[in-house]
Amino acid sequence: MNLSLDDPVEKLPQIGSTYAKKLAKLKIRTVEDLVYYFPFRYDNFSLFSSISKVQAGEVVTIKGKIEEIKNEYTKSGKKIQKAIVSDDSGRIEIIWFNQPYLVKALQTGEIYQFSGKVDWFGKKTIIVSPQYEKTPKQNYKSSNLLHTGRLVPIYPETYGLTSKWLRTKIKNALDLCGNQIEEFLPWEILNKENLIPEKQAIFKIHFPENEIAAKKAKQRLAFDELFLIQLGGTLRKLEWQEKNIVKKFEINNQKISEFIKLLPFELTTAQKRVVKEILNDLTKDKPMNRLLQGDVGSGKTVVAAIAMYVSFLNGFNSVLMAPTEILAHQHFQTLKKIFSNFPVKIKLITRSKKMTLSGEKLNPVIIIGTHALLYHKFNENVGLVVIDEQHRFGVEQRAKLIKETSFKEKIVPHLLTMTATPIPRTIALTLFGDLDLSIINELPPGRTKVKTWVVPSSKRNSAYKWIKNRIFQTNQQVFVICPLIEESETLSCIKAVTSEYNYLSKEVFPEFNVGLLHGKLKSKEKEKIIEEFKEGKIKVLVSTPVVEVGIDVPTATIMVIEGAERFGLAQLHQLRGRVGRSHFESFCLLFTENENPNTIKRLKFIENHHIGLELAEFDLKIRGPGEIYGFKQHGFPDLKVASFTDLSLIEKTHYWAKKLVTDYPDVLKNQSSPLNKRLKKYKIMEVINN
Ligand code: ADP
Ligand code: MG
Repeated sequence: MNLSLDDPVEKLPQIGSTYAKKLAKLKIRTVEDLVYYFPFRYDNFSLFSSISKVQAGEVVTIKGKIEEIKNEYTKSGKKIQKAIVSDDSGRIEIIWFNQPYLVKALQTGEIYQFSGKVDWFGKKTIIVSPQYEKTPKQNYKSSNLLHTGRLVPIYPETYGLTSKWLRTKIKNALDLCGNQIEEFLPWEILNKENLIPEKQAIFKIHFPENEIAAKKAKQRLAFDELFLIQLGGTLRKLEWQEKNIVKKFEINNQKISEFIKLLPFELTTAQKRVVKEILNDLTKDKPMNRLLQGDVGSGKTVVAAIAMYVSFLNGFNSVLMAPTEILAHQHFQTLKKIFSNFPVKIKLITRSKKMTLSGEKLNPVIIIGTHALLYHKFNENVGLVVIDEQHRFGVEQRAKLIKETSFKEKIVPHLLTMTATPIPRTIALTLFGDLDLSIINELPPGRTKVKTWVVPSSKRNSAYKWIKNRIFQTNQQVFVICPLIEESETLSCIKAVTSEYNYLSKEVFPEFNVGLLHGKLKSKEKEKIIEEFKEGKIKVLVSTPVVEVGIDVPTATIMVIEGAERFGLAQLHQLRGRVGRSHFESFCLLFTENENPNTIKRLKFIENHHIGLELAEFDLKIRGPGEIYGFKQHGFPDLKVASFTDLSLIEKTHYWAKKLVTDYPDVLKNQSSPLNKRLKKYKIMEVINN
């Protein structure tokens, strides 16, 4: 049969359109996708035993003839299947539960292998619910079987695709075209890193002869995974370095100092340091590509404002993109205030507020907006683009904004992206390898540590009572954040937050004005609610996490988080950062109904840790990056084999990715080289080409 790795899976024997559809849900469309679908563990069935030697408690494989098989009813009326199997050494009973078809599927008088657990049944040993597999009559090795007598791969089973089915199909695919897998790593890397060839790794990850082989396969594939991400980052960095800016900025130190002096506060040491790093970038004749990280409340906005002022002084517009209308509004207000003594116009573009630009060439402006900016026609005069909460935007959206604000393909504005998400070193090296990093590792003075408690359901009512008293005593405000129960703010999420709002306003806090905020409200309504909350007219604000990012209400001093276990710790920390923004004593209550000791332990960690990075590092080990950063994060690849905590492999792959770019330019230039094919497969090229 003539089959290629690029062919659709339907071309494989016995995969019809029904199965093809199920496979498509796992993103398996081609034969190649199928063989790159890896097991997440193995059942170890490699211990063979003669029937007379099996012992209760063991997981064994036996090989024997089916003497008889029948359905029986237990006393409780359940159907069980009972078989007697024999070999030269003796006989044993095997039972299964509720699989009546086995009586037809297994043939009396034929030889099978059975793998499963040996157990006591009264006084005799039996095997319970084993895997079974008919042995070919001639010329076979036990290790050539798929489901028994070996390390048996177990795949994530979804959409009605069993491991057994996948195993068979993957074996089939490997037999038919596994040989077409071309090595994409240079020999030098394989050799120096002691890696097995990729083809071998793919065969062995599915059907290893032993644990060592499985480990070698994983090592190779984990290397590939991180290496390709690193290479993508390295290439993106190079590509950015090939771009230019329209005109080199000049820094008017005197004007900048005046501006900083007129701010209502003194910059923190950390803010001063990152301002320096940014201004230094801005004086270069290459475009900046810098990520500014700082915990919630660390004062990133004013840092961005200084950069935008530099752009203004050089005769250029700046664009600031925020992920929500609320944030865009807040930036609009903040920047209007900051620039009130300067001739800098601030403009706002959101879904509900469109505008046209004209004449900005003469009088540069700062344009603030949401995603709406992506559909805006800019004139050719943008010198600086700032993206706030950059993780809330997809790679494509970021790329589009750059494209829309570019002068020509290779002439781009300076780019400053900002995030409150702490970035562990391993993540910085892999996922943000193409960016320069500035970190604000200090909060402005006068902030208080937010007292944090995990509140189990037994203490919920007394917690409500305590909150109530606190509101009476202090007249301050309370946030209640409900988790997203689905990936984005869908209708059912709105329903959940609405019913929480109803409950709290009627049953728990009837004496206070309770407000409800979610992404589906009209922006006028949102503004009104936030305004009322700021003024203290609304005392308790019930909200989804989607709208909350970045709102600044100094007199809000209690943060209640419902279903806290659903959030990553770094995310909880960001939410907690909404309070404690003044000298008032502040609190964060993490409500959870979950009683799992591990869950509680994880949540308790945040009670006495107040540095975002520590929380992120801790959570990264337990949950992996997709989850620590929460649902709404884009662009975090799901690692299949490697781990984002594996610093040594991350450093190795980083080294090799850089070395490959300098030492093997031909391999990269050749569009049809196996390396470029792999890169494309990982979709990294798409991002690069954006
Ligand atoms: P974030 O980093 O979360 O975006 P913001 O820029 O919104 O933080 O700043 C949070 C608050 O801290 C704002 O009210 C801002 O005016 C204030 N702030 C920023 N820098 C300082 C500083 N150096 N001293 C005092 N307050 C500051
Ligand atoms: Mg901010």
